[in-house]
Amino acid sequence: MLTAKLHSGQVVSLAETMNKNYLETLRRKEVFYCQTCGEELILRLGEKRIYHFSHLKDSKCLSEYERESDYHLSGKLKLHEWIKSQGFEVEMERYYPEIKQRADLAFTYGQRQYCIEFQCAPISEEVFRRRTKGYQKLAIVPLWILGGKNIQRKHSHKVSLTSFHYLFLKENNLHQIYLPAFCPQTNQYIQLDNLLTPSIRNAYCHFSITQLMEKRMDDFLEPNISNLPPIKDWLRERYRYKMKLLGKRSKETTNFFAEFYSSAINPYYLPPFVGIPLKYSCALETPSFIWQAFIFLKHFHGYEQGRNIYFHDVYTTVLHEIQKERIKRRSLPSIKRNILPFAIEEYLEQLALNNVLQKVKKHHFIINKSMKMANNMEEWIQEDIIFHRGFCKNANKYN
Ligand SMILES: [Zn+2]
Repeated sequence: MLTAKLHSGQVVSLAETMNKNYLETLRRKEVFYCQTCGEELILRLGEKRIYHFSHLKDSKCLSEYERESDYHLSGKLKLHEWIKSQGFEVEMERYYPEIKQRADLAFTYGQRQYCIEFQCAPISEEVFRRRTKGYQKLAIVPLWILGGKNIQRKHSHKVSLTSFHYLFLKENNLHQIYLPAFCPQTNQYIQLDNLLTPSIRNAYCHFSITQLMEKRMDDFLEPNISNLPPIKDWLRERYRYKMKLLGKRSKETTNFFAEFYSSAINPYYLPPFVGIPLKYSCALETPSFIWQAFIFLKHFHGYEQGRNIYFHDVYTTVLHEIQKERIKRRSLPSIKRNILPFAIEEYLEQLALNNVLQKVKKHHFIINKSMKMANNMEEWIQEDIIFHRGFCKNANKYN
């Protein structure tokens, strides 16, 4: 911890001073107490670690802040300094007794109260939701920032994500999806913009990297995202995804194969518009190829040109598959609205844009050409090349 209470009730924050002489004198004169549990604390002024307060060994304090790493401590200090440099009053480790929570940082901007949770160690979704709700109960907006060391960048636009990362996914006013992170070692504020998620683990995004001190508060709270989703990066790897997915036997692919073989469909020959990148693909944990294939099977396969397709029916199909546990939703606690219907709507809109469907009006489409499957690999490859050429051209229009 970086703060402690004195006997007088005054709070000492190490964010205000790290002067060793001053702190040594203070340590001789004062007794320090934990703001959460009231137990006595030790002020540690060693050379190896960042100066901090810690509980006595046999402490019963349930404070989740005890196992703080230097990475976390220095992140808090740097974020504190940054908020101050933007001209705002900021409080380190503000304790809210009503909800028994202590925020890493708390500040006011405009008329609103905010708190920052700089999260470096994985926590469960339950803890994440509980803490978020606690702040909301007090009308405080929680701002979760992921510790940058948790980001596993694989290529310039590719990153590996776990369910822990997805807790941090947010939407700006324009409904662009992003993930905020900070690395105190490099002083970089790292924003993953416009995430596209073809599979459970992999995502494509733009890395917007700024030195923290150059980041403006308004752009942190409401980022202006100018990059388009990295669609081409996804498409470049589409064969590999499909092959990997179809070659693997897991619970989700077993259900998938059973369904498709019983309908006499070879999943390798599914049309190229099955498994396309979408802005809201993150709404589902199930790979895009699989959930889009279910839509194909129920609503498109074998039907002729002119058949009506209603958003509502397609959405109902997806909900039904979720109920049967053949499609899995993703939990996104930092995105306020339910984006699942928008993912389905986006899919139908994309199909219309690429002449697979024809749009009659909002939420009403008709099949534009009969949905025949390719008869052999050669035919399929031809279809795939033509479709994706058009898709890339249209992608810019759509954004
Ligand atoms: Zn305590």
